[in-house]
Amino acid sequence: MNGNDIGKGLRKNSMFIAAMGILLVMLILVLGSIWIGRSAKADSEDAVTTVSHLYLNELAGRREQVVEANLQQRIDDMNTALDLMTGDDLSSVENLQNYQDKMRQYFGLEKFAFVNEDGKIYTADGIKNDIEEYDVDFFSLKDVSISIKNLKTKDKKVVIAQPVSRSVDGNKLIACYEEIYMDEMLQGISMDAQESDATFSNLYTNDGVALTNSILGGLAVEDNLIEALSRADYDKGYSYDKVLEEFENLERGEVSFTYDDIHETLSYVPVEGTNWMLTYLIRESVISDKISYVSDGIIFRSIIQSIVTVLVLLLIFGFIFVQNRRSMQLLVEKETAAAEAKAKQEELDFRIETQKKLEEQSRALSDALNVAEKASKAKTAFLSNMSHEIRTPMNAIIALDNIAINDPETPEKTREYLEKIGGSAEHLLNLINDILDMSRIESGKLTLKNEAFSFQKLLEGINTMFSSQCVDKDIDYQCHINGHVDDHYIGDSMKLKQVLINILGNAVKFTPEGGSVSLNVEKKASFDGKTTLQFAITDTGIGMSKDFLPHIFDAFAQEDSSTTSKYGSSGLGLAITKNIVEMMNGTIDVESEKGKGTTFTVAVTLMDDTRKAYGETENFDPQEMSVLIIDDDPVACEHAKLVLEKVGISAEVAESGKQALEMVSLRQTRRDPYNLILVDWKMPEMDGIETTRRIREIVHDDSAIIILTAYSWDDVMEEATGAGVDSFLAKPLFAATVIDEFKAAVSRKIESESEQAGKAELAGRHVLLAEDVAINAEIMIMVLQSRDMTADLAENGRIAVEKFASSEPGYYSAVLMDIRMPEMDGLEATRKIREMDRPDAAGIPIIALTANAFDEDVQRSMQAGLNAHLSKPVQPDVLFETLESLIKE
Ligand code: ADP
Repeated sequence: MNGNDIGKGLRKNSMFIAAMGILLVMLILVLGSIWIGRSAKADSEDAVTTVSHLYLNELAGRREQVVEANLQQRIDDMNTALDLMTGDDLSSVENLQNYQDKMRQYFGLEKFAFVNEDGKIYTADGIKNDIEEYDVDFFSLKDVSISIKNLKTKDKKVVIAQPVSRSVDGNKLIACYEEIYMDEMLQGISMDAQESDATFSNLYTNDGVALTNSILGGLAVEDNLIEALSRADYDKGYSYDKVLEEFENLERGEVSFTYDDIHETLSYVPVEGTNWMLTYLIRESVISDKISYVSDGIIFRSIIQSIVTVLVLLLIFGFIFVQNRRSMQLLVEKETAAAEAKAKQEELDFRIETQKKLEEQSRALSDALNVAEKASKAKTAFLSNMSHEIRTPMNAIIALDNIAINDPETPEKTREYLEKIGGSAEHLLNLINDILDMSRIESGKLTLKNEAFSFQKLLEGINTMFSSQCVDKDIDYQCHINGHVDDHYIGDSMKLKQVLINILGNAVKFTPEGGSVSLNVEKKASFDGKTTLQFAITDTGIGMSKDFLPHIFDAFAQEDSSTTSKYGSSGLGLAITKNIVEMMNGTIDVESEKGKGTTFTVAVTLMDDTRKAYGETENFDPQEMSVLIIDDDPVACEHAKLVLEKVGISAEVAESGKQALEMVSLRQTRRDPYNLILVDWKMPEMDGIETTRRIREIVHDDSAIIILTAYSWDDVMEEATGAGVDSFLAKPLFAATVIDEFKAAVSRKIESESEQAGKAELAGRHVLLAEDVAINAEIMIMVLQSRDMTADLAENGRIAVEKFASSEPGYYSAVLMDIRMPEMDGLEATRKIREMDRPDAAGIPIIALTANAFDEDVQRSMQAGLNAHLSKPVQPDVLFETLESLIKE
């Protein structure tokens, strides 16, 4: 889990907590609002009840006082009227009636009447006998009495009576009374229901009969209050009995109850001097409905307020949350950026550090390289110098040895010693050459050339070299080409030759007499202008043990230390060979069995030479050429035929000299001789030379005859030429060589008279010899003298230049120039000679004699104007050949 995920988790968590918190707050607020509303309602109800009870008492008390005052007023009015009564008014019934009428007008007395002792009633309107209609005991009346007339009807009247003692017309009056309509009596007091039926007031007798026509709450006029109250449910602290008792005893009180599902409070006050109760009723449910309405409003408003508060809180919270989140995000971004920057900085530091280390390392490496290069240069220089230093005396040894051997006066025994000395010297020279090669390889100075070369000539040279060596050692040597191999390739022929010579040299060296050595060449692949050739060199020699094989290519590796002395070897040959093959991107493998023999397999890839096929040269149409091949070996015949057909030459085959003679004579008779006849040298019955002689007798000069041989033909040259052989060719055959030799044979015939013209005569010529080492100079002079030449010696380059300058032009035929000399070296001297203003300065052959065998040295010699470059010790034959070809008449 990464930081982001943790952040998300935390945010989710806090969101959840926040949501829960808001819900809780909302719940608390709403519940709180409800609770506050409820308790406000209860409190309001309590307060209203309390207040309404006080109010009720007060109102009831007030009304009772008014009723009482009204009654008292009436009583007072009646007393005043009695006081105003005179004797005259009692003098007669008529006067009494007048008085009564007057009083009625004065005091508004509805009915002011007197009762006599017989129960007759004297009114202003006459005497009446309806005493029973009154609920008053007039006869025993002692004080003022207030009663109700027509209690059971709507027409209720208050009757106020009091005792009197008067007499009129002889009749004793015992009581008087007045009648007042209830409504009139209650004037100034509203008994009507108040404020939307919330309050009511009424007068009742103490046994529950209503005295007015008003209603009290749900009670009708006719309903008995006491009886109705028995059906009510009383609040705590009130009871019906208490009400009943207080009514009976005319006591003031109040009671709360529920009647007909309406909660009411009744207050009652007795009216003085009567058995009346003034009642006042409040319908609390109406009030509490109002209160409920109000408190519901409060609750609703509170909830709205809560919601608004929560919403505002939410908004604030959201704003804070967003702000928080933003700042958190910013913080995280800042921290991430800081961390990234830090990581980058660290990486940068690390890179810088690494860079520094690398630079240090590379400095150390380049220092080491410099040291190594210096060491290598020193080593190469040392080897180069050493080789020069060793070659110089070697030159002397070999040359003197040669001269001594060739001296007819040398005794036989000494000659044998001299031959051994020569052999050892040659071995030593080979060793030096190997060491030089090795040092070149190690110092990387060995470079490969990419030049077109004649593969056939390369193979021919090798075959010539090894066939003669094998003849000497009595070893059978064979060279086979499997399939078609081109005549020319592009590559380094010298190096390839060196490889093959090394391996073949070993094969011959380690194969005892009577054994065999073979070289098999095969084209393995040809693709994209390149051809891979495989060379298998097989011998039946001493072979090698399995243990030694892995080390065979190591430098100085030899299976047996006695090899050096016995075979004269260094152990460097195969190391050099492997290096060269690898440089050519080739492979080298070896298979060997102790006592049985060895096979080396080398595969190298050469570039194809895309130049025109060699058979198609100008003035020559291969298709018109007819060839006869004479060989007892059918395989060789087949190969030769194949090779020729490749370049468009048709060939016929004869398997013996006898068959060939028949074929040739047939053609001759038809006047269509073969252009070329190739004759194998070694054939049973009739050999190549005999066959040639016989053919010549038939064809005369019409056909060219070439001897094919796998061996060196030096021994049979004279005999063969005498028999009429035009030329020799080494097996295996190459078309180009065949054509070349054919052409050469033809042209030789044409130019036979001037045959001698090619080579310069050396006898009697003067040579300028520049050589600082006296012994070398002495030997060289002797060598030159052996061909009747004279040599003038110059001890260094400067003297050579002077001698040449002071000689007659054309006096010297050539200059032999040592390269390393004191004062002025050979290169400098050559340049000076070439620069001279005389007719022979540019053309005189100057031949370098040097112990330096490096390619670069040869190149430098050429640049300086040297014509040839001969390595010391100089072989006399090579020197003569060089002189012959370079000197021009
Ligand atoms: P050199 O031949 O100069 O000793 P090389 O490197 O050519 O050095 O060979 C190394 C060794 O390999 C030889 O001394 C020999 O013991 C062994 N060797 C090479 N070629 C053959 C061979 N064809 N048969 C047997 N032994 C061989």
